[in-house]
Amino acid sequence: MRYANYINGQWKQPTLGEYRENRSPHNGESLGEFPSSTVEDAREAIIASKSAFQSWKKLSFQQRAAYLQKAADILKANLQEVGRDLTQEEGKTLAEGIGETQRAISILEYFAGEARQPVGEVFPSGNPKTFLYTTRTPIGPVGLITPWNFPIAIPVWKMAPALVYGNTVVIKPADLTPKSVYHVVKAFDEAGIPPGVLNCVFGRGSVVGNELVEHPFIKAISFTGSNQVGNQIAQLAASKGKKVQMELGGKNPLIVLADADLEKAVEIAVSGAFRSTGQKCTATSRVIVEESVYETFRDRLVERTKTLKTGNPLQEDTFIGPAISQSQLDGVLAMIEAGKDEATLLCGGEVPAEEELKNGFYVQPTIFENVSPDARITREEIFGPVIALFKVKNYEEAVEMANDTEYGLSAAICTNNLSVAQKFVEDIEVGLVHVNNETAGSEPHVPFGGCKNSSTGSREQGKTAIDFYTQVKTVYLDQV
Ligand code: NAD
Repeated sequence: MRYANYINGQWKQPTLGEYRENRSPHNGESLGEFPSSTVEDAREAIIASKSAFQSWKKLSFQQRAAYLQKAADILKANLQEVGRDLTQEEGKTLAEGIGETQRAISILEYFAGEARQPVGEVFPSGNPKTFLYTTRTPIGPVGLITPWNFPIAIPVWKMAPALVYGNTVVIKPADLTPKSVYHVVKAFDEAGIPPGVLNCVFGRGSVVGNELVEHPFIKAISFTGSNQVGNQIAQLAASKGKKVQMELGGKNPLIVLADADLEKAVEIAVSGAFRSTGQKCTATSRVIVEESVYETFRDRLVERTKTLKTGNPLQEDTFIGPAISQSQLDGVLAMIEAGKDEATLLCGGEVPAEEELKNGFYVQPTIFENVSPDARITREEIFGPVIALFKVKNYEEAVEMANDTEYGLSAAICTNNLSVAQKFVEDIEVGLVHVNNETAGSEPHVPFGGCKNSSTGSREQGKTAIDFYTQVKTVYLDQV
């Protein structure tokens, strides 16, 4: 099947009639053809978003929220189908595909609810005749550029606040996972969203994404993806005077202290590092263990990892699906090869031998130990199912090692000591902290984002999303 862009309320074929095949990372099966759009297609969508902005921003919050709620209801009615499509194109397990779709629905519902929350503050004025307050205004048409690893949740956690606060949207989904966003846009179309308010242009980042960053009608860019691309976009967008929000990579540590429940800690490490094939910005990639329990923890972790089933993500007992693409797999395998030179391989490290998996982008879950602090696998984001294990003397050394990274997205600690847990919350340099749970995982109604090189600092989701998608207007209203 051939899919189309969604521009000004119409499904439109790309101007040059070029398409890209969407393929399953499990076996290469075709999942449909999506537009390889041009700069002209992007411009048409941008112009539509500018025209629609004037009337969209004048609707009440509740009127706008009604479209979000309807889109949520439509997705809910199609939850199984959409979740399955997500799994087929991205490769995470079916439970995760359906779970992520449910999360997108929850985000839409949450922001529909935000339409009834206060948007400003009232201040006492020095002048008794002045009513002094703040209100919020939308920014204008916004450009959203999203990655493939959360192909429905991330687009929705940008779109939902953008729309409810009165902005119009042009989204450029990741080229590898277009179908998940197609389902969301279709739900908004069926919900009757006015033409031009939400536009979706499929295609390459360097073409469609770049035009969003360049075009003067787009007033803000929200981007999630790699540091390399994000930094380039941030500079260009800032030079054009645009508001920018960047959510980037991670190198997330899990600390296991001697007093932790080790059985639980092993499950936390396995889930954080290997679910979604390690392709989460919040995935655990460094596990730092106190020396008195190191050997016990390591042996149990390796033993547990060997029981995980790597395979077809649609099968119920699969724990680890394929990497998203050949180039992603090549990158992970190259890091594993580097790891073999610079550390000790404990398990995994190969492409699985099963015949059934030979047409997919599979790699075994992999664990290294004896890793030096400056090894590539210690410092670089791998974005695959790979753990680097470290032995430390005590909490102080653990937290110092955890913070010794350019990234600052997420971190976790396993301990039964409440005081140490509280100290960790203070000491660790990240935007998301978990105590006795994995580094990955976030709830839809609370702020999400990192610090250091993981983020430009603003937060997505929850109440804080309003800060990016609106500007504050301070009003002095005087009696005559
Ligand atoms: P990527 O940077 O390759 O691509 C992200 C998006 O940018 C895609 O839609 C791509 O087409 C587009 N793009 C590429 N070049 C562009 C250009 N020149 N101009 C405009 N747009 C362009 O990232 P990816 O491989 O899709 O995603 C994986 C990365 O995303 C990892 O580094 C991961 O850590 C990060 N990530 C971060 C978070 C977070 O919230 N911090 C969440 C998920 C993923």
